[in-house]
Amino acid sequence: MRVLLLGGTAEARTLAAAVRERGGIEVMSSLAGRVSNPSLPVGAVRIGGFGGVDGLAGYLRRERVDAVIDATHPFAATISAHAAQAAAAAGLPLLVLRRPGWLESTGDRWIRVPDVAAAARAVAALPDGCVFLTTGRRDLAVFAADGGHGYLVRAVDPPMDPLPPAMTLLLARGPYTVDGETALLRDHDVTALVTKDSGGGMTSAKLTAARARALPVVMVDRPPLPPDVRAVPTVADATAWLDSAAG
Ligand code: NAP
Repeated sequence: MRVLLLGGTAEARTLAAAVRERGGIEVMSSLAGRVSNPSLPVGAVRIGGFGGVDGLAGYLRRERVDAVIDATHPFAATISAHAAQAAAAAGLPLLVLRRPGWLESTGDRWIRVPDVAAAARAVAALPDGCVFLTTGRRDLAVFAADGGHGYLVRAVDPPMDPLPPAMTLLLARGPYTVDGETALLRDHDVTALVTKDSGGGMTSAKLTAARARALPVVMVDRPPLPPDVRAVPTVADATAWLDSAAG
């Protein structure tokens, strides 16, 4: 059985390792090639876009893929839509592996917004101060008109223009610790946090640190999954699905 595993997440790497250890299923992991020094999964890896739905459908045919697992980031909505359409066109089973979103708990001051443009509007309504922006290097343009706030931007690779006028850049890659995030909020006098609802443990320490300091958190909601796809929350669910598909 040959499986295309669309990755770029810790779950995808864990799944690739789990399937390899069990044997019997051939996995090709796929990365977009967005970051300069990606964390690579074990096993076979291809890097780069497919060229839209048709390109992906062609790849599935050419490589005689039997099943597709979409374990991409919850905010990678385009590739998820393409995977659903291409798998349907090729008549292949598709499973989406999507970790659950974060849950608000006592003491949190979350402002939920539907997208990053709405996050920028929510920030504009907050008092002047330092906004810790963790939405990724490609989502900064909507904050570029804001001259009132200072921004602490954390990204894996350097961001692209346009950028907020008052910006401190921090190049880093998770996982992060609560102690580290607490020190960061303190040292930069952070007054608000903006994050996508990525879920998972790699980047959740900032939420604990923000709660302890009673900071407002602008939380960008996830885009919806493509219609009619089967989605599971854990790597164990995905390996069970593969077992039944292979059996
Ligand atoms: P996206 O907007 O959904 O996809 C844009 C295009 O990138 C797709 O149309 C596809 O190009 C290509 N692509 C995306 N994921 C791919 C993959 N796994 N393998 C091959 N091609 C892929 O995706 P994105 O938000 O830019 O994210 C890119 C990658 O980074 C994803 O793999 C995702 O898991 C990872 N990531 C994203 C975020 C985030 O916040 N968005 C955070 C962490 C990691 P073609 O149309 O040419 O096929």
